[in-house]
Amino acid sequence: MAEVRVERLVKSYGAARALDEVTLDFPDGGFFGLLGPSGSGKTTLLRAIAGFVAPDAGHVFIAGRPVEDVPVEAREIGMVFQSYALFPNMTVAENVGFGLAVRKISGAERARRVAEVLELVQLGPYGARKPQQLSGGQRQRVAMARAIVTRPRVLLLDEPLSALDKALRVDMQIELKRIQREVGITTIFVTHDQEEALSLSDRIGILRDGRLIRTGTPREVYSAPGDAFTARFLGEANILRGSVEPAGLRLADGTLLPGRATACMAVRPEHLRLTAAEPATSHRLRLRLVQRIFGGASGTAVLDWQGQRLKATGPDDTFADLAEGQEVWASWTPDRALPLTD
Ligand code: ADP
Ligand code: MG
Repeated sequence: MAEVRVERLVKSYGAARALDEVTLDFPDGGFFGLLGPSGSGKTTLLRAIAGFVAPDAGHVFIAGRPVEDVPVEAREIGMVFQSYALFPNMTVAENVGFGLAVRKISGAERARRVAEVLELVQLGPYGARKPQQLSGGQRQRVAMARAIVTRPRVLLLDEPLSALDKALRVDMQIELKRIQREVGITTIFVTHDQEEALSLSDRIGILRDGRLIRTGTPREVYSAPGDAFTARFLGEANILRGSVEPAGLRLADGTLLPGRATACMAVRPEHLRLTAAEPATSHRLRLRLVQRIFGGASGTAVLDWQGQRLKATGPDDTFADLAEGQEVWASWTPDRALPLTD
């Protein structure tokens, strides 16, 4: 059963529709990644679930019950935000125990639960410290501990890692996933970082201009994005447009890509193969290698095709035998061409 369900949720700010008829189920115990560009309505959706935002229309259900009349503090929700301020004058343990104190949970029981959750976020020895004596990553873990110590039904995370630098963020992603698995709590995680969403989530949803345009497992959405926005937003995509003919897709440069065609399709950079010699497939383009970029473990080739920038990626030495400025062939296996509606 879905632990959280939103149904035809609408919220407008003046002329702007922050949420436009959003219907979505968040499965019990799952890790749901909510993705979308800035301003697409992610925070508004979380705030509507938490009860900070009253929707203009639609419903929020938690554990099957509509929560219109349930105030924020009774919705059994834990939250962590990017700038989730800890109380600077309280120790780590006091910060974490605050929600328990508010709920009138006794000192001994409170101390036990605080110690337990600090252990869980691997901050066992840090209970007596003040927040300013902790690193950024440790503070985020305190915020996590504070959010889950009350044993909420749902955990809402609004870009909780975006203030951390890349290396620390990756460590915290692993940590976050471990904690979520251990506690088994239904989690809704907002991010604009697609890699983060793909690697952490059981399911993802993509918001655009307040509309939910796609949901599925990360693999489903990545390998069958359905539309050009999703293809580009979730990973990189070389988008090819043309006209549909009985024999296939006719591109602007006259290339015919045979087979069943849509007017628009995408090929992921990792699925483009670059060769100097003409490949033995008609699923190919003639283009110019503009630039080779060394990226450590992987390399990128920037390509110019009819004035359009395309990209190919591969293990670091993939493009070693090709020179910048050279005319090359890019080819792919037909099943790697993703049909798109736009
Ligand atoms: P995201 O979290 O995806 O960046 P938000 O949910 O914060 O997006 O915002 C969605 C839209 O609603 C944006 O156009 C934003 O400007 C608008 N918006 C959000 N909150 C408010 C508010 N309190 N007052 C006016 N407009 C708002
Ligand atoms: Mg936001």
